[in-house]
Amino acid sequence: KIKQIAIYGKGGIGKSTTTSNISAALAMTGYKVMQFGCDPKSDSTNTLRDGRYIPTVLDTLREKNTVTKEEVIFQGFKGVYCVEAGGPAPGVGCAGRGIITAVQILKQLKVFEELDLDIVLYDVLGDVVCGGFAMPIRDGIAEHVFTVSSADFMSIYASNNLFKGIQKFSTSGGALLGGVIANSINEDYSKAIIDDFAGRTGTQVVGYVPRSVTVTTSELQGKTTIEAAPDSEQAKIYLKLTNTIAEHTVSKVPAPMEVKGLREWAATWADQLLAYGDAGRT
Ligand code: ATP
Ligand code: MG
Repeated sequence: KIKQIAIYGKGGIGKSTTTSNISAALAMTGYKVMQFGCDPKSDSTNTLRDGRYIPTVLDTLREKNTVTKEEVIFQGFKGVYCVEAGGPAPGVGCAGRGIITAVQILKQLKVFEELDLDIVLYDVLGDVVCGGFAMPIRDGIAEHVFTVSSADFMSIYASNNLFKGIQKFSTSGGALLGGVIANSINEDYSKAIIDDFAGRTGTQVVGYVPRSVTVTTSELQGKTTIEAAPDSEQAKIYLKLTNTIAEHTVSKVPAPMEVKGLREWAATWADQLLAYGDAGRT
């Protein structure tokens, strides 16, 4: 059975970077993997392919009215299959609607079965409030959802919103929550904040990824850290995270906070950080 995983998170938080490193690490350890970029920017899979863009499903559909596998599926690092949904023509159409179309086309082409995939990772930009971006969760396409989040409030806020979407669709066969991938965690207080958020919303942190210049240099080389710096500490961290996700089996319905409760929770953290001053900021 194919394991289908959707990765969400606030814009710019590190979804594509983290997802691409997981795909690269999975492929390196022998899994047959597809990374499906559900983002009109269509840059999800770039670092799996030396920084290059690939034609998107929606662009191809617009140009040719039909789509073949060869036109939209490209292999990258260690054979990872890369697909980009793409977006509507600028200024017209709905990006979420486009994701739905792109996923349906791949389903029709029966690529998942024919490529004999072990794992599909969806890198999804967008707010689940919008139908199209919720699709991997809502229509039971993905089985497990992970959110990439830092300890910043806006990132936690976006994850909490995602949890609301998951909770809502869980009653009708939607995907469940696997956990939080904590990104840019370099200090004890960041770890404490994200741990507390996960604990209070009925989920878990599946990995802590520090912000690292190794990721920056790898990206500048157009590569994942797994490819560019396989012996680095950062690569080891991505490998460990990848193992956890590959072995993950049981996802749950999260218990998101109400906006007011989330605000109050955040304020208690402000008080704690202020009280401890520099001592709290190891
Ligand atoms: P978008 O919502 O725009 O698609 P995203 O969530 O996919 O963004 P990325 O593109 O993966 O985010 O990351 C944004 C930037 O942050 C990139 O330049 C990336 O290299 C950097 N970045 C992400 N995680 C790390 C990290 N752990 N260490 C250093 N840099 C990081
Ligand atoms: Mg991205």
